[in-house]
Amino acid sequence: MSSSRKVYFYTLGCRVNQYETDATRELFTSAGYEETDDPSKAQVCVVNTCTVTAEADRKSGQRLRRLSRENPDAVIVAMGCASQMADGVVDADIVISNKDRNNIIRAIEEFKGAKTHKTQHVRPEVTRKDDYHDFGTVVSPEGSRAFMKIEDGCDNFCSYCIIPFARGRVASRSRESILNEARSLAASGFREIIVSGIEVCSYGEDRGEGIESLLGVLNDIASVEGISRIRIGSMEPSSLTSKFIEGIASIDKLCPHFHLSLQSGSDTVLKRMNRKYDSSLYLEKVRLLREAFPTMKLTTDIICGFPGETDEEFEETLEFVKEAGLSKIHVFPYSVREGTRAASMPQVPGNVAKQRVNILLDHSSLAEASYAKSLVGKDLEVLIETEREDYYTGYCREYVMTHVYVKDGIKHKPGDIITVKAVSNDGAILIC
Ligand code: SF4
Repeated sequence: MSSSRKVYFYTLGCRVNQYETDATRELFTSAGYEETDDPSKAQVCVVNTCTVTAEADRKSGQRLRRLSRENPDAVIVAMGCASQMADGVVDADIVISNKDRNNIIRAIEEFKGAKTHKTQHVRPEVTRKDDYHDFGTVVSPEGSRAFMKIEDGCDNFCSYCIIPFARGRVASRSRESILNEARSLAASGFREIIVSGIEVCSYGEDRGEGIESLLGVLNDIASVEGISRIRIGSMEPSSLTSKFIEGIASIDKLCPHFHLSLQSGSDTVLKRMNRKYDSSLYLEKVRLLREAFPTMKLTTDIICGFPGETDEEFEETLEFVKEAGLSKIHVFPYSVREGTRAASMPQVPGNVAKQRVNILLDHSSLAEASYAKSLVGKDLEVLIETEREDYYTGYCREYVMTHVYVKDGIKHKPGDIITVKAVSNDGAILIC
């Protein structure tokens, strides 16, 4: 196999998409391709697209068009949610559907073998129910930490979200496959695993199991020697039970950092969003988590300018984030997704949504700094990720970026876990 064949990847969207690009990269490597970050040198350009917002859709199409224009001889491949959902023509030679990702190399060979001019392949079918598409063991690193996908799809059908249409229903990875990946990651030197998926708390639902099967997965990973820390990705408040919280509290390796999806702190907006909880249920889950993890960092996502969101409803959200003690908020302006129920609801003007985004972002910056400050004086366990001239960087278990100045002359390397005292904070960064 010639090693001169080059592939270029461009990934939009979430960490699950990044994981899937990493899995696809492994397929190309096995087929003898080398990765290049210069698309003009590539024989194949793969764009892993995203459709979570109209902007993500636009950027996906823009990138495909640009690659086709600048690189007319390369095979342009579109994969991921935007191309899965696209109606009509996608600006690519090949569109790989989500369930066909393992056949990407074959599809490229067939396309080249056809020796035709570039042709548009038909839109792939969006599956309503499918088995988990297992990539086998994938190494998707974030420094000394590795991201692991355990589930795909979502059954919740929130009124604004296109994802269940793009990714289909919940499909869970087998525990055996998860454990194999955890062992491989440990053998490759990774110390922390971030367990995630599209709706991670739905893990096992497709097999008729409840959230205890997610607990089983976390315990499986915790049993792997070499893995020192486990983090759970975004969780749905309605799925958390007191038994599950008790269960995770007994996993020493589990980090006290939870991302509990909120979207709005107003009950009337939550209802229109078709979320499965109200503000009091959310607060109750926060109380249970805090009882089990008193110093936990709590982060969330909020959408501003959801259809019909009034000033009063936004005020309710603002009050709620203070009451819940949220330490960081990922804020998004609402984005219309055709085909969802919210698309036909009365829309909030874009400038109003933007103002609300800025108000929440300002609050989030203050809350993040205040949380970092609450850890000053405490001994923290930091996983070293990078070495700078006179300090190291890494996250503590509570997921605060930490700069560690080592005065005793001891050398550390990425992957080391050290215990250090936080002496001050610089905004949201801790200094040790
Ligand atoms: S839980 Fe709601 S917002 Fe999240 S992926 Fe499912 S439908 Fe979308």
